[in-house]
Amino acid sequence: MECIYGKTAADVERALARTHRDLEDFKALISPAAAPYLEEMAQLSQRLTQKRFGKVIQLYIPLYLSNECQNICTYCGFSHDNKIRRRTLTAGELLTEAQAIRAMGFEHVLLVSGEANQRVGVDYFVRALDVVQPHFAHISMEVQPLDREDYSLLMEHGLNTVLVYQETYHFGDYKLHHLKGRKSNFGYRLGTPDRLGEAGIHKIGLGVLIGLEDWRTDSWFAALHLQYLERKYWRTKYSLSFPRLRPFEGEERERPYGVQPKVEMKDRELIQLICAYRLLDEEVELSLSTRESPIFRDHAIRLGITAMSAGSRTNPGGYVVDPGSLEQFEIDDDRSPAVIAEMIRRQGYEAVWKDWDAVLQG
Ligand code: SF4
Repeated sequence: MECIYGKTAADVERALARTHRDLEDFKALISPAAAPYLEEMAQLSQRLTQKRFGKVIQLYIPLYLSNECQNICTYCGFSHDNKIRRRTLTAGELLTEAQAIRAMGFEHVLLVSGEANQRVGVDYFVRALDVVQPHFAHISMEVQPLDREDYSLLMEHGLNTVLVYQETYHFGDYKLHHLKGRKSNFGYRLGTPDRLGEAGIHKIGLGVLIGLEDWRTDSWFAALHLQYLERKYWRTKYSLSFPRLRPFEGEERERPYGVQPKVEMKDRELIQLICAYRLLDEEVELSLSTRESPIFRDHAIRLGITAMSAGSRTNPGGYVVDPGSLEQFEIDDDRSPAVIAEMIRRQGYEAVWKDWDAVLQG
């Protein structure tokens, strides 16, 4: 940590002056010493992002398959010890949800579930992909880590992208927050992007859950992980997300290990991190979810973000089938996709409803 917190204004200026930045420069850009340089960082980040991606924001929407979960994670409403009504979508319900969000205009869907390997395992995912695939140009998944052969099978059924956030790269804190179930296996989760790279997946999404550990240190390890993967699996594309801890149902009751953010990241610091990632890596996609407030999201569009979720429901059946089922966490930006698309247009950007590659090809 000292190697980040000890950076000086001279280190920041040196990092800003370079055309190609390394992980040492990244330390300076995320350090407290960079705070007075935020405006300069934002302008550079905007320029680099527009050069590589144009003035385009890609929109996607999560579709929750199930809130069943065998794991205990201290920060999540789906945690096994949370006494909630559990629900897993049937094929018919999934089709209804898929058609509803397709009707909103989305061509990129993110399938999400808790970790319940018996009921919501690879066989279920194959059936889910077969239902969803005809309706979308791009399918991402955020589910439990799987073996390489499983990923290969799911790719045959239309899977394009997998998001697998390490939550924290700090082994001790990881153990504190992942108390039971397969997710408590730090090493298996950490090795997941490698298995995805070996399977030849199109895109991998990385990130940490900001609040579990010092955000600067964790974000630096995420950058290190990204660079390692980019060099080893260079055909694969990458995205980064920066979710901050959100309130969830069940956290207010007496839990012996209820989670409080270890550190609170201010809005200005999240902007600093977004710009620092862009200044480190011109190619990586930067994604912002509806966890963040409308004001923050509107502002961040011009500073390096390339993708956003919109209209999100974080519960299975949340769009049509069962809007009352329990959400994984509370969203902050509950504006409709049409309102968000209009906001993007007003800022001089184009809202795109499918994935970049589909855009570039057609
Ligand atoms: S974070 Fe994932 S694995 Fe942990 S309780 Fe929530 S759904 Fe389950």
